[in-house]
Amino acid sequence: MSDCLFCRMVAGEIPADVVHETDRTLAFRDINPQAPTHVLVIPKEHHPTVAAVAQVDPDLLSAVVRAAAAVAVQEGLATEDGVEPGYRVVTNTGPAAGQTVHHLHLHVLGGRPMTWPPG
Ligand code: C5P
Repeated sequence: MSDCLFCRMVAGEIPADVVHETDRTLAFRDINPQAPTHVLVIPKEHHPTVAAVAQVDPDLLSAVVRAAAAVAVQEGLATEDGVEPGYRVVTNTGPAAGQTVHHLHLHVLGGRPMTWPPG
């Protein structure tokens, strides 16, 4: 989708600070970080939401989640076999949740204590 910001990043038309890549996923630093570590993990293929990709391609959803876990380890937010110090994975769906880019992305946030409930 040429009008999708994240598709254009995948295509290399818009620069991205890429930290992790697989054949089906891309991870890059958020331009407006909400935590010391704030990385977005996306499927290279366009899907608007987590529900959409879960329905049509659960293997791809699994690949995105595995990429998020790999990013967390790479960024020092968790060990391969542990959860310390910890991190948050968030995906916003729809206007009430504040989704602004309609290409599935997991926010991987860490490097500071997280509060609950989120705002
Ligand atoms: O969940 P939501 O759709 O609001 O998240 C979109 C995210 O994409 C925001 O955190 C925003 O800062 C990020 N973004 C980015 N680079 C852009 C445009 C948006 O990292 N060029």
